[in-house]
Amino acid sequence: KLDFHPAGRHFLQIPGPSPVPDRILRAMSLPTIDHRGPEFGVLGLKVLEGIRKIFKTTQPVVIYPASGTGAWEAALTNTLSPGDAVLMYETGHFATLWKKMAENLGLKPEFLGLPGTEGWRRGVQADRIEARLRADAGHTIKAVCVVHNETSTGVTSDIAAVRRAIDAAGHPALLLVDTISGLASADYRHDEWGVDVTVSGSQKGLMLPPGISFNAVSPKALEASKTAKLPRSFWGWGEIIEMNKQGYWPYTPSTNLLYGLAEAIDMILAEGLENVFARHQRLAGACRAAVTAWGLDIQCADPAVYSPVLTGVMMPEGIDADAVRKLIYEHFDMSLGTGLGKVKGRMFRIGHLGDCNDLTLMATLSGCEMGLRLAGVKLAGSGVVAAMDHLTRHAVKPALGM
Ligand code: PLP
Repeated sequence: KLDFHPAGRHFLQIPGPSPVPDRILRAMSLPTIDHRGPEFGVLGLKVLEGIRKIFKTTQPVVIYPASGTGAWEAALTNTLSPGDAVLMYETGHFATLWKKMAENLGLKPEFLGLPGTEGWRRGVQADRIEARLRADAGHTIKAVCVVHNETSTGVTSDIAAVRRAIDAAGHPALLLVDTISGLASADYRHDEWGVDVTVSGSQKGLMLPPGISFNAVSPKALEASKTAKLPRSFWGWGEIIEMNKQGYWPYTPSTNLLYGLAEAIDMILAEGLENVFARHQRLAGACRAAVTAWGLDIQCADPAVYSPVLTGVMMPEGIDADAVRKLIYEHFDMSLGTGLGKVKGRMFRIGHLGDCNDLTLMATLSGCEMGLRLAGVKLAGSGVVAAMDHLTRHAVKPALGM
């Protein structure tokens, strides 16, 4: 709890939920309408059509009134049967939670990865998936499950490479991908990358409050759902997709979050998806320039898979990352992401996703730099200056005197 009354806005710089723009808050404040009435069907069709563009798919996208965890469960229960072997990959805390869920549901997950926390610094190694699938001559593995943007580490895996690995092995396993924190921030292509189920959520790149989540579903996944035997009722795709054809749901949908979703889609498509991705890359580059100038390590050890969504900052030996976060919260009214699971206390996470611009990032980095100094962390130099330098060198418009 803050012991003073902070003026101005709280800085919500965790890697989701991300700040909700005023425009979206206003859209959500409209009166709730009859979810079986004529106006609702128009809204339903609009968001169902629009969200496909964000996933880059022409296939159905199912929207659940649930957090991302619900959409994880939906992806597994719609496509798999009790006792099915699934190949999962340890990229971090969220991959670990998804694997635990698979166990809870009675699946047999096999967890590929590197020892200790080594895998928490690198993306999915597609060649290891290929080798494992080649060894599975009897095709007992029914699905490969990977996290695209691992929110606990700031590593964005190469999903196209995973697709190529499955194809190279000539294996029929489904490809299930979690891009809960990647969608609408990091380049993502459901159809082109041949993903069978993409799982996502509202509270990250879509700039909405938490509360709705998604399954983008390929024809192969839909076919699998007809024979898959895991119990499901609320999560079942069939009835939802049928009623979605008219813009309705079999149950009461989150009407006001769908108002927000319609607004978010308009905002993202007006900026242009590719521009949204480029903005995130540029801000992430500036954030990494800051961390490097401080002389601190970035959690992601492979530049090829740096996340455009968040940056994990590792603390020097003997410094408790959560104590630094607490100090920053108490002095500057800013929330940063805690280290999760195996890296708890060893690092913190800076979110630069969604409704974030140059000055949001600069204020965030200023808070971090002041906080690190106040916490007694020895810094090699000014990250703030390095980030400003990065942003001006990569200016978005032509400038005089550069
Ligand atoms: N997967 C990833 C990559 C996430 O970042 C999160 C949440 O941060 C989840 C799954 C779980 O989603 P939720 O907390 O919305 O249930």
